Amino acid sequence: MTARTIDGKALAARIHAGIARRVKSLQDRGVTPGLAVVLVGDDPASAIYVRNKVRACEAVGIRSFLVQLADNTSRATLLGRVAELNADPGVHGILVQLPLPRHLDAREIVDAIAFDKDVDGLHATNAGLTLLGRPRSRSCTPYGVMMMLESIPYPVQGCDAVLIGRSNMVGKPMAMLLLAANATVTMCHSATRDLAAVTRQADVLVAAAGRRNLVTADMIKPGAVVIDVGTNRTPEGKLCGDVDFAEVREIAGWISPVPGGVGPMTVAMLLVNTVEAAERSIGTSPQGPWLAESDPSAAVAAPR
Ligand code: NAP
Repeated sequence: MTARTIDGKALAARIHAGIARRVKSLQDRGVTPGLAVVLVGDDPASAIYVRNKVRACEAVGIRSFLVQLADNTSRATLLGRVAELNADPGVHGILVQLPLPRHLDAREIVDAIAFDKDVDGLHATNAGLTLLGRPRSRSCTPYGVMMMLESIPYPVQGCDAVLIGRSNMVGKPMAMLLLAANATVTMCHSATRDLAAVTRQADVLVAAAGRRNLVTADMIKPGAVVIDVGTNRTPEGKLCGDVDFAEVREIAGWISPVPGGVGPMTVAMLLVNTVEAAERSIGTSPQGPWLAESDPSAAVAAPR
């Protein structure tokens, strides 16, 4: 069996089309959604992520505000800039690009963002609301993974879902969203005793460890859905995930590639969260679902 590919790039393009329509509708009511992206320091990978987010905003009509600060920016200065953005009515979403330089406490900075402008979904209030099953801004990467699962004819309800990774950004919110979709969820981490034995039970496997080739064919249940969140580099510098794609696709039923899988979906969901924050700012309840309102003729999953 050769797995079918879940094409995150194509799916993200469908969602972007829906976002552009919602932005237009907001503009007709006098509101242009605004996203402020705060970049501290000169980490090259962060600079690329930020550039992609700014470009994605421009493509759908969201106004972007790039706040670039030096590597040695003090805690007080950064908190001051976040407070200014919190108070700016033209800014509906704020994202502080992580990781921050070592002298800054990411948790403190993220929690300083007004929670209704936290479009990364990482503020303690948004994390808590997700835990309670009442999500507002969902953490972008897990939200994107849920959309990928929604896009394929595979029932998440009742399935055994296994996560590799328990970070606050990916693993934990992913578990909550899968649980809310009625999956039976198991979380693995670096102290899990027999990782392969657990992953072989997975109908849906989400790999988010940040370890190249961690997931091999012998760890996969035949026909399983495998979503690869990892972003790593090969020794030659090529982008790759946590899953050995070439061998796992021979066993799995569905698989997401890296690049072109979860990455574009994370950006798409950031835009979704920004538009929804702008809609809430004028008292409009965000109306889903994002996939249904997009072009149904666009191909999402194609046999490889
Ligand atoms: P993280 O904070 O470093 O967390 C990694 C998690 O994986 C930890 O819970 C760790 O366990 C677990 N882990 C590490 N090695 C393991 C192993 N050998 N077996 C089982 N579990 C293991 O990373 P993150 O922020 O969650 O990100 C995970 C990966 O996703 C990274 O590659 C990151 O770059 C990528 N990512 C991609 C996107 C995207 O848009 N594509 C977005 C976010 C993150 P412990 O808790 O025990 O240490």
